Amino acid sequence: MSNEPQPAFKKLESSSRLKQLMANHFYELDEAARCGSNKIAWCSSVGPAELLRSLGFLVYFPENHAALLGASRQAGDYIPAANAIGYSPEICSYLTSDIGACIMGETPLSRAYPGINQVPPPDVLVYNTNQCRAVKDWFQWYSRKFRVPCLGVQSFRQVDEVTPLHVAAISTQLQQLIPPLQEISGIRFDIVRLRATIELSRQCSELWRQVLETAAHRPSPLTFFDGTIHMGPAVIARGTQAAVDYYNFLLAELRHRLEIGVAAVNHENCRIYWEGMPIWGKLRELAALFLRLKTCVVASTYCNSWIFSDIDPRDPFDSMARAYTELFITRADACKERYIKKMVEFYRIDGIVFHEAKTCPNNSNSLYGMPQRLYQQLGIPTVVIHGDLNDLRLFSEEQAVTRLEAFIEQVQG
Ligand code: SF4
Repeated sequence: MSNEPQPAFKKLESSSRLKQLMANHFYELDEAARCGSNKIAWCSSVGPAELLRSLGFLVYFPENHAALLGASRQAGDYIPAANAIGYSPEICSYLTSDIGACIMGETPLSRAYPGINQVPPPDVLVYNTNQCRAVKDWFQWYSRKFRVPCLGVQSFRQVDEVTPLHVAAISTQLQQLIPPLQEISGIRFDIVRLRATIELSRQCSELWRQVLETAAHRPSPLTFFDGTIHMGPAVIARGTQAAVDYYNFLLAELRHRLEIGVAAVNHENCRIYWEGMPIWGKLRELAALFLRLKTCVVASTYCNSWIFSDIDPRDPFDSMARAYTELFITRADACKERYIKKMVEFYRIDGIVFHEAKTCPNNSNSLYGMPQRLYQQLGIPTVVIHGDLNDLRLFSEEQAVTRLEAFIEQVQG
């Protein structure tokens, strides 16, 4: 990155609350693992967390752990260990770094949270293939290692319109999870408890949407890089009161920023949409680059993926099925393009950055001509940068900076 002095980041005051929420989450899981107070379910990021919570499980998300490995730049130390047991360097670097860390008996949690020495061992693993098949392979490895059941929902992919047939198929699979989960948790399924959990999840989702939508203001009070950090509760605590309380607090802070005119990026003169995964180990450098270029990355597919507009306690299973099938990642390109067009209009976007992540084709939408099609349809420039979510050997910082600087110059011009 440039040697010029960097403009200062404007840290959100909510950050200290966020840290506390995350710490509570991991200490609660650690305590349960030590004393057996609750059963522990590992869940894929868009798996049926609400159902698990309603059955008394504490829920741990391996993808969140993998993102921590990426953000702490430890992923590269662990990927080779997973490669050595047959998991290709070409596949999901969340999977390879997380399994590698497990093989080596290490976790960034022990550095961040004194007293925690290991990730909380699972009593069950539950995935949804709505995002990709990697989560199933990933969870099945842990299932063999810990000798615990691995259950899942097989989802549709490349969905254009979500139809009642899609919803019915997923809803049925969700309901079929109840008997084995009840047996593992020892707690009887209770529809009232599920509705209450879904209501908290709905509130969390709605507040998270409002948080992200503050960025529609010009200048924006937050950036994509803030979003990647502050989305933590929407990922690991949806369905809890703690997540709802947190987003009420964060939203109030952002609204206050709007009232008093605090911009996340001083002299914001360019507004960008980020399509694709974050590059976890380079968030700070990329945030500094855009800050220096007076450019605000105001919106992203990634942060928006934790808005589940359809989830509804009055219709628990069908609404979960619909919400988990309407995800951006499960959809056909035409539908994704319609979505991005709406985002471009709503956030008044000047250009789109596509991050082509080498080990996650599922979140890389530049592979089949989408940037070019959107450029033709919207008339705003697009650029593709090559990198990865966790494997920094696949990211040339120098090339990316050169490309992004030229791109922003073109957009501003
Ligand atoms: S969507 Fe991508 S990053 Fe997420 S688990 Fe699948 S391959 Fe990995």
